[in-house]
Amino acid sequence: MKYIKKSLDGRTPYYSKMITDGIILNANESAFTTPKKIIDLVKEELDKIDLRRYPDTDNLVVREALAKNYNTDIKNITCGVGSDQLLDCIFRSLIDDEYILACNPTFSMYKEYASYTNGKFIDIDFLDGFIYDTKKILESIDKYNPKLIIICSPNNPTGSIMERSDLELIIKKTKGVVLLDEAYSEFYKSNYDLALKYDNVIVLKTFSKAYALAGIRLGYAISSIDLIDTINVVKPPYNLSTLSQIIASIAIKNKDLYKENIDLIVKLKDELYNSLVELNLKPNKSYSNFIFVRLNDKIYNHLLENKIYIRRLSYNNEFWYRINTGTKEENDILIKTIKEVL
Ligand code: PMP
Repeated sequence: MKYIKKSLDGRTPYYSKMITDGIILNANESAFTTPKKIIDLVKEELDKIDLRRYPDTDNLVVREALAKNYNTDIKNITCGVGSDQLLDCIFRSLIDDEYILACNPTFSMYKEYASYTNGKFIDIDFLDGFIYDTKKILESIDKYNPKLIIICSPNNPTGSIMERSDLELIIKKTKGVVLLDEAYSEFYKSNYDLALKYDNVIVLKTFSKAYALAGIRLGYAISSIDLIDTINVVKPPYNLSTLSQIIASIAIKNKDLYKENIDLIVKLKDELYNSLVELNLKPNKSYSNFIFVRLNDKIYNHLLENKIYIRRLSYNNEFWYRINTGTKEENDILIKTIKEVL
């Protein structure tokens, strides 16, 4: 690229092939579509909107619905085009050339956004079984004094969680900010209230996973007023479309409609885990809607040939795979297809 700035030389644009056919288990999306009642409520609202106007740059309808849900004030919430946009805003508003600490492997976009700032990234390895090494994290806080510590719980791609007591040890020890990414917490439990208890915690959440709304691109952060204002300094104006704001506010107001599907997703993930154990494939214990497992190329290629899509990730010079649960029928086909090449 001829005009790209020096620090980005050699980089390539993000690309993810749009897949519409086959069994899609590679993006941690919900196994189920958005509940019909939610879609019906959205349709009712469609007649009332005036798309000639810019959307509300304050995202009031969504923030009010979220504030009510989390029993807090709208000043403690900001919204982004997916939680991805908020990650970008968090890095741009907090980091100049300071240290950022995260565990490895984790969500790849942290490093990506950090690289657009002058941030220095520190990777902390997990213990065996991808258990968070809290002791090592605490030691590294002493050593590096990081400006930002990122804990993803449940973690993408390992499915690991960090216990609340360990989170609090980190929050109390650091002089920096703790970003708790809870993209998948609806599948286990949330510690969002830590963002309201301490002034140095940001909890990041999304409508893309449990709410089956990845298509509307809407994520949100809960934090102290000071940190929310900080993020908002770099948040682009009018970032959320009118349609996204309406859909998200309907979803959160009717969150009870999701409970059955969320419970079922957790059950299906546990069943998938057990099936993989029976095949001797040693999956990692997961508290989310996906499973992390090492497979050989033969299995992966056979799945691809059968249009079954899972996510390949390179970790410690080996290929590991992240598979989100599908419906029961999809999981049955997945397991049957794996068995064909075992
Ligand atoms: N955090 C984690 C841990 C994720 O896995 C993802 C998406 N895969 C995101 C944030 C971003 O999600 P979104 O932008 O769809 O809200």
